Amino acid sequence: MLIQLIYRSRATRHFSADDLRRLSEDLTVRNKRAEIGGVLLYDGTYFLQVLEGQEQVVDPLFAHLRKDPRHSDIVLLLRDPIYRTRFHDFRMGALDVRQAKGMPTTEILAQWGALLGRIWQRDHRCERIMEAFVRGRWQDPTPSVAWFSEAESQDAEQAHTDKSLQVQVGPCQVHFALQPIVHTRAQRITSVEALLRGPAGESPQAVLAALPANRLHEFDLKSKGDAIALAAALQLDCMLSVNLLPMSLLSNDNAVEFLVEQCRTHGWNHEQLLVEITEEEAITHLDTFLNAVHKLRASGIQVAIDDFGAGHAGLSLLADFQPDKLKLDKRLVQGVAASGPRQAIVRSVVEFCFCLGITVIAEGVESVADWRWLQSAGIRRFQGFLFARPHLQGLPPVAWPPH
Ligand code: C2E
Ligand code: MN
Ligand code: MN
Repeated sequence: MLIQLIYRSRATRHFSADDLRRLSEDLTVRNKRAEIGGVLLYDGTYFLQVLEGQEQVVDPLFAHLRKDPRHSDIVLLLRDPIYRTRFHDFRMGALDVRQAKGMPTTEILAQWGALLGRIWQRDHRCERIMEAFVRGRWQDPTPSVAWFSEAESQDAEQAHTDKSLQVQVGPCQVHFALQPIVHTRAQRITSVEALLRGPAGESPQAVLAALPANRLHEFDLKSKGDAIALAAALQLDCMLSVNLLPMSLLSNDNAVEFLVEQCRTHGWNHEQLLVEITEEEAITHLDTFLNAVHKLRASGIQVAIDDFGAGHAGLSLLADFQPDKLKLDKRLVQGVAASGPRQAIVRSVVEFCFCLGITVIAEGVESVADWRWLQSAGIRRFQGFLFARPHLQGLPPVAWPPH
């Protein structure tokens, strides 16, 4: 199958006009042999390369290029089947786009059209991506810092259980694993999320699935009393986040009062309580959800949209309702450092939240590269195995990056 692959990368050294010409000649010869076409753009710091050809040659070439020491920070922007090649005769010309930066688009297109020997078609994504590159419409990643071995934080949740604190349990006698949400710049734990666990460390899904349907919502709500009791016993100096199904807040008329009451009983300030509701649940039960949110806010409890980006109507939900916090789903977060589409989505969500005063939290951060990128995109709060794993009935140690 014929495909087009576009990636962006950062040059590891400066390329002069001569270097660039030599590189282009070299690539042209090699690509002619492999029946690959494309174009290489350079803006003094970054490369943007378009590769076109049969997938069985383009994919291995890209895998090979990833290891080329002349560039780093490789971000895949597009890899799609195409009907026909756009740079077939061009093979692999290299263009220095620095002079083009301030030019009107029509002029760039005329120049490049002449160079590429064909009519420039702006309605194709390839040309639009090239234009965005010339205009510099992306942010620089922060410089690389190797601050700790990623393997270090890989010990399992159970490894900590022996050290956990035995505290009084609340009304349901259930356990929670606590996972910090960290502000890495300030080196501060801003919140702790309480994650439901069964008596033998079972997952929340397993615990909830084992309940009879008529007890599910009551249990979900009442168990939060145990989470509050735990946070209070640990004297946490931050927010406490708990997860609830929207129906758990509405099937009981006094659900919000119950939460406030539990805070009072255990000595936890209820304004330090935040309820997380998944995007999926919020959308499928929108009226229930909005109703519940109304009651929570009226009583001083904060609300977060959980797993944002995993559901199917994220933006229309935000048009009608703005939470205090928004947690980016791990499927958007993981691999963001190397994925052009994820980067574009995350940037737009950050911008949206910034304008509306919503705090963004990136969930499921497991790699230094992703954390660095998210930080450069303006995100300050992170939750993930890179910093701390959930810890049964206690607060785990946090692996802080150096200042
Ligand atoms: P969630 O609210 O999105 O919680 C975060 C989940 O991601 C947790 O899974 C946590 O262990 C996991 N996680 C944290 N950091 C990382 C990471 O770096 N990489 C990966 N791969 N995973 C990470 P857990 O504890 O299995 O919880 C799953 C879901 O169950 C939660 O997702 C939440 O939606 C739900 N849940 C948890 N407790 C409750 C509860 O009391 N009531 C209800 N209704 N749902 C709950
Ligand atoms: Mn959650
Ligand atoms: Mn989540």
